[in-house]
Amino acid sequence: MLIDHLNRQLLEHRAQSLQRQRRTAESPCAPHQRVSRDGQPARELLAFCSNDYLGLANHPALIAALAEGAQRYGAGSGASHLINGHSQAHAALEDELAAWMAPSIPNAAALTFCTGYMANLALLTTLGDAGTTIFSDKLNHASLIDGALLARGALQRYPHGNLDILERLLTRCTTPLKLIVTDAVFSMDGDLADLPALLALAERFDAWLIVDDAHGFGVLGPQGRGSLAHFGLSSERLICMGTLGKAAGVGGAFVAAHPVIIDWLAQTARPYVYTTATPPALAHALCESLRLISGPEGDERRARLQQLIGQLRTGLAALIAAHPALGWQLVDSHTAIQPLIVGSNAAAMALAAALDAQDLWVPAIRPPTVPTGMARLRITLSAAHSQSAVQRLLDALAQTAARLSGAGTGAETGAEAATIAGAVA
Ligand SMILES: *Cc1c(COP(=O)(O)O)cnc(C)c1O
Repeated sequence: MLIDHLNRQLLEHRAQSLQRQRRTAESPCAPHQRVSRDGQPARELLAFCSNDYLGLANHPALIAALAEGAQRYGAGSGASHLINGHSQAHAALEDELAAWMAPSIPNAAALTFCTGYMANLALLTTLGDAGTTIFSDKLNHASLIDGALLARGALQRYPHGNLDILERLLTRCTTPLKLIVTDAVFSMDGDLADLPALLALAERFDAWLIVDDAHGFGVLGPQGRGSLAHFGLSSERLICMGTLGKAAGVGGAFVAAHPVIIDWLAQTARPYVYTTATPPALAHALCESLRLISGPEGDERRARLQQLIGQLRTGLAALIAAHPALGWQLVDSHTAIQPLIVGSNAAAMALAAALDAQDLWVPAIRPPTVPTGMARLRITLSAAHSQSAVQRLLDALAQTAARLSGAGTGAETGAEAATIAGAVA
């Protein structure tokens, strides 16, 4: 029966070290977070795992704007946007986002969604109907993959960043509509897509370029306007999805594009039409968030973030040079996502456990999220981190690296790793 079947599957999952455990936070999203797990007493951890890149999630001005929005519009929206859930706050946010994106997408209009996941499903299912081919980078986010699978059009996936293969696929494609889809900043590697070259291909082959800017919005480009602004691109062929729960610190997402595309999405996209609008207070708070991001405080926070990124990369590079036998690798990322690739699942788990023992919270990312043999720590930085916090992480990694190197051969290193994992698990 179902329960037995699922229990067997859960056991198998666990046997492969794939089980995930939630931690329950007792304090706001911030570098120092009080969390508990499995009924154990709460601990204060120094976290390097949130996507709150500018440290706005717990910003007093956003909390105040959320409260003000709730006073003005109440707690819930009451219905979908097309019934009576669309408020003045949503409309104001859409206007601001459209203006925000106008330098990259001339005459852009914008539509807000409850989540980025839903926005991507909406985009790909609505635009990618029969007669369409979707060209998708193999490392694109799960929501883009799911959207492409749900769409009725054809799907062609190209190897990560391989524009030669993409060009060959485009040359052979005969469908009237072609959509090239890419993360702007890849979520597990932190590297940037070559958006100028992708846009050039789109222009050459009369295709559209859909850019998921979940990790660039607020962080990259002048005033944090995102990856398209970072590259100084401008084209009506661009369709941009941005999330509002990462650097923007609140929640939700938007699509910016040609007004006719936006109108069609609002009329027909099922993840837009058949869902309750987000509470208007969130949209109200997000208008404040856009002001913070694009103002002097945003500039200051982005500068601090860049400084921390430099500090971390310098420290990690030195660590890797000191312990070449460990085979650790840095990724060519200059964003807030800084993976440390360690190889095997066991090594990644052991390293995360060793950090956990020192009250540091850095998630280990394993296949299938990343390719086999490329398990890693996914370190994310926030402007809210201090230099001493980054130093504490580097010191803990150096200590662990020294211990693992001291263990001698690879086999012994594995045994040591297993011991560390066992001690903490
Ligand atoms: C987080 C993320 C999403 C989904 O956004 P949510 O608002 O969290 O649903 C989509 N794409 C990428 C690349 C992401 O990192």
